[in-house]
This record gives sequence, C-alpha cells and structure tokens, in this order.
Amino acid sequence: MKIKHAAIAAVITSASLSLYAVGAIEWRTDQSGPGHDAWIKTYKPVRAEERLKGPAFPPTDKSMFLTQVYPSDLPANPAPTPGTPVTEQQLRKQVSEIAGQAGLRVMDDRTLQAKIQDPRLLASLATTMGNISGGTADAVKSDVYSGVAFGRLPSGDGVAAQVVGDGSGRFKIIVNENYQHEDIRLLGILLGHEVLHQDANLSVREELIAHAFEILAYAQQVIKDPMLASQGTVLTCFLNTVAMGLLNTRSPDGLVHLLEGRGEDIWPASSSPVDFLAQNFIEAGLGLDTAGNDALLYSMRKLTGNEELEEANFDDEALALLDENINALLAPEDWIALAKALKLDTGIHPRVAR
Ligand SMILES: [Zn+2]
Repeated sequence: MKIKHAAIAAVITSASLSLYAVGAIEWRTDQSGPGHDAWIKTYKPVRAEERLKGPAFPPTDKSMFLTQVYPSDLPANPAPTPGTPVTEQQLRKQVSEIAGQAGLRVMDDRTLQAKIQDPRLLASLATTMGNISGGTADAVKSDVYSGVAFGRLPSGDGVAAQVVGDGSGRFKIIVNENYQHEDIRLLGILLGHEVLHQDANLSVREELIAHAFEILAYAQQVIKDPMLASQGTVLTCFLNTVAMGLLNTRSPDGLVHLLEGRGEDIWPASSSPVDFLAQNFIEAGLGLDTAGNDALLYSMRKLTGNEELEEANFDDEALALLDENINALLAPEDWIALAKALKLDTGIHPRVAR
C-alpha cells in the first residue's frame, strides 16, 4: 500500500505532539513567568496592539492544552460517543450556521456525496467554506481523491488524519476513527490540512506550511465561536496548544510570526522550551521544496489578499509570504480574542485563581 506520509510519518507524529515538547526538560513551576508580569506592571498596556508587544501570554488554565506541554494527571480524551447519533438534519443546521449556503451546497454536491459516505465527514468538509481553507471541498472533489472516511490509520493513533494511496493511483483521506465524534469544525480543519498534501512528495517544509494554515483555520473558527476552544477533547487541546504557540511567537513590535520570536518560551512555564513555533521543524531540517496545489493556492490568495497570485508551492517564498501576511489576515483584536478563548493571561483581566 502506498502511504503518502510514510517517509515523514515519524517526524510528523512527533511534530504534532511530542516534538513540540521534548521530554526530560527541567520542569519549571513558576506560573506566569516573571517577564510577563513585570512587563504588564511597567507598560500597563490597554489597546490590543500594545498588549501584543509584551512577552508571551501565560495560560490561566493549563487543562486547555496538551499534557505533553503542560503535564497533568488528567489527560484529555477524544470526544465520547453521543447518547443518540447525530442526525443529518442536525448536521445541516450546524453547517448552515457555520458556513451558510456555501456549506449547504457542499452537502448537496453529488460528487462529494459519492466520495464521502459518512454525513459527519461531509458536514465537516462543508464547514471549511469561507475560511482560509476554503479550497478544501474543491480539492476533495478533484480526481486526486477517491474518498474520505473514518478508519484506523496505518501510522497509528498518534496521528489524527492521514492521506493514503487507494491502490488505484488515487488517494483517500482517512480520519482517525477515535476522533469521529469531534466537532465538525475541528474535523474540517484536519481535512483542510490533509488536502494540502496531494502527491507522494512530502517534506518538513510542506508540513510546516500545512500546520500554519491549519492553525489559522482554527483561529478563524475560534474567533467566531470562542467556546470551540473549551470542548476539553484531546483534539481541542492539541489545536489550542499550537494556536497558543503561534500567538506567542511575536516580535517586540507586537507582530505574530512563524519563523522568529523574541527568545522567550512560547509556552511559558511549560515543559517545552520552544522560542518560536517553527523552531523544531527548522531544527529537523526543512528539506526540499515540494509542489503546491490548488488548495494551497486558494489559501495563499486568501492570506495575501492577492487573487492574481498564479502559483504557490511549498518553498521559501510561501514561508516568507506566510510570515509577512499572518498579521493582515488576523488583526490585533483577533489575536486578543483568540488569547481570551484560550484563557491566556493578556494582562488586562482580573487575575482569577491560577
Ligand atoms: Zn501533514
């Protein structure tokens, strides 16, 4: 069986979870980091762009994040099986609220219905309409993919979704069946990541760019509905952790970056000393440039606001465009809204029990 992720699966598994949080690191117990509190006292920031100029925002509720980064005796689990199975009518209602008519059109699309039998996955795909991953449904509709289904993954349970060869020269997206009851928006975000890999060539660079768009898609959904971040499932904790990592990869001018931070931990007081989100990817070696596809081009056009953009590949140019344009996609108020949804201490709210 052709497994598209095979060459890199080990790296990705760890990039997704443990690579961010190298074990056996000195365990620090200070709650918020002295830098953050001192900075707040000195500068008394009020406006969103001022607050973003300060050090990394520490967590006020560590249970929102992966135990690999903020260890806990109570690790999160996947969403449990609901008492009564969700109906297609309920899914349509959710899709209509999340993605409007464009989402319902995805659910009614005959080609997509033929490729995706599980209505929860079809609804998940529909939730991507209108956000940064809005090219996902067209990608699944293309000849590259023969289907999307829940199942067990060849690379094991450390991965949430994977692209595998279907034996006929096309690819199938398999979403880890352990996650089948997660919020359809979260599953949509996983699909948005997977469609960026639509050939057998993969590099750490491609993975980093796919992760960055996955985080941005999550941020957009959380800004629209902050409660999405508080579902307490392991998938939410993972996305919260990487979203916090991106949000805290800021330069002293208050701008969020992918590739450079300010030399301070992006997960303050954690077991994971990482200074900027891409650090472990870069240290692993970004590897070769790989070819982009229409889904990447869609996301790059949305990100840059340049609909004339003719080509996008997984290369240094894409990384530079991402780094430059993240702050055009999300304004200071958006980053602060994300921080609030993740229950981070931005220095403005009363210090409730931490
Ligand atoms: Zn990937």
